[in-house]
Amino acid sequence: MLQFFHDIRAIVYFDQEFLSEVIILDVQWFADAFKNIITDKNHAKEDLYAFASEWDKFNETGELYDTLLFAIWKMNNNGYIEHKDNIMLYMEKLGLLAKMNEEKWYVPCMNKTPFPVNYFSSYPASSVLCYTFDFLPAGIFHRLVATCMQIPWEVLADNDQGCIYQTAAIFVFHDLHHNIMLGMTQKEIQLQVFVAVGEVDVSKCLQIRENIERMLHNLSNTFQKNSEFHVAFKCKPTGFCDSKESAVISESKFIRATFQCPSCPANEKHCIDTQYITKFWKQVPEEESKINKVKSGNEDTTLTEAMKGATSIELPSTDNSSENFDKIMKLLHIGVDAIRICFDKFFPKEHLEKTLKDNETDMRKGQFRFQPPQLEILFPPQGGPSTAVSSLSMDITIMYKLLRNYSDITPPGNGWGKDPKVEHITESDDIERIRLYRNKYSHDAGSNLVMKDNVFSAIWTDLSQAIIRLSAGVLKRRISEI
Ligand SMILES: [Zn+2]
Repeated sequence: MLQFFHDIRAIVYFDQEFLSEVIILDVQWFADAFKNIITDKNHAKEDLYAFASEWDKFNETGELYDTLLFAIWKMNNNGYIEHKDNIMLYMEKLGLLAKMNEEKWYVPCMNKTPFPVNYFSSYPASSVLCYTFDFLPAGIFHRLVATCMQIPWEVLADNDQGCIYQTAAIFVFHDLHHNIMLGMTQKEIQLQVFVAVGEVDVSKCLQIRENIERMLHNLSNTFQKNSEFHVAFKCKPTGFCDSKESAVISESKFIRATFQCPSCPANEKHCIDTQYITKFWKQVPEEESKINKVKSGNEDTTLTEAMKGATSIELPSTDNSSENFDKIMKLLHIGVDAIRICFDKFFPKEHLEKTLKDNETDMRKGQFRFQPPQLEILFPPQGGPSTAVSSLSMDITIMYKLLRNYSDITPPGNGWGKDPKVEHITESDDIERIRLYRNKYSHDAGSNLVMKDNVFSAIWTDLSQAIIRLSAGVLKRRISEI
């Protein structure tokens, strides 16, 4: 709470640029207006004697009536009442509070109602999606809850109370069927969707995820720079905001179809079903459904399509399914070089430094900004080991981002970030193809993942064709040497 308090000044200062119609010249004055609202208990007991029960309710639930607000501000007599509408509007904009109705506000950081952990656990629910932070920015969860109320998402009713607690809040989605449970732990914000009857609809989960992530990005950018979050899942579908019941596992670990939980205690190890845990939160890429089809023996149409034009590179002879995986990894390695060849075409070596310099501000601060370690590669620090920038020091992520956002390459047939169809064979289609295969398989390099022969041959053909096209045949020999 104290930290939250301190941050208010920083927020107001930072957000001033968004303020168009009302200008607050005295930031301290505004910060004090909020500080007065969330004033400490002893102070309140003395000065707000006549409003003791209202204040107690406010201090427990965060629900603030206009009458109490007036009484609080009246004691300080700083001109807040006169400017109430503007102050409240601005506080809402900052996510410090949200309007509940004409006479009532919700101030989330004052809510001290404990979250009844297992109260909702019997409903059909999605798995638990987690947003992990190195340090959860103070107040970000409260501001997320206030923002959800402004959408507006209705708070789920529990008799005459709202399901809104100190560390969790439950909203009803627009379809009035799916419920959105948001919670906070020390390091993450958790999200789970549940329904009273029937089954959770994956498309609703995806919409909800998109909404929440947009809000989180906005909040973490305006609140505190560099407060990045990562996606993770709970190892079991149960245990929302309950660290004893299940553990938080990074998204990048969910590569294999099943694996043993790396986090639960040794006497409680269990098997994680990746498909079950991730299915609520991810659009199934075309490639995956292709492979699933092949796996289930239904290989006629998709596989034949993928095999089209497979004549120029012979399939390496193999009957060992773990060797298959290894060969795809080697092929992906060559795929990165194919992207580099294409990259050098769009960003000729002799102009690379100038092109980057021209876009430096945008790359550091704009919509498609790079992370600090990436920036060190794009703009090598003076006096460092290497001062000349080159595509050779760039990984696939950097090259892809530069091509996608800073070159005049024609976008892929299906758009960036999506699986290309078999007939999509432009440069950007092939870049996307290689990148998506790499994302899918490279995290497990060096392990003994197995790949069935029919799946292997479809991927080998698709990928090697892309590499040959993209490198204009230059890399064909290296492929044949695998
Ligand atoms: Zn576990």
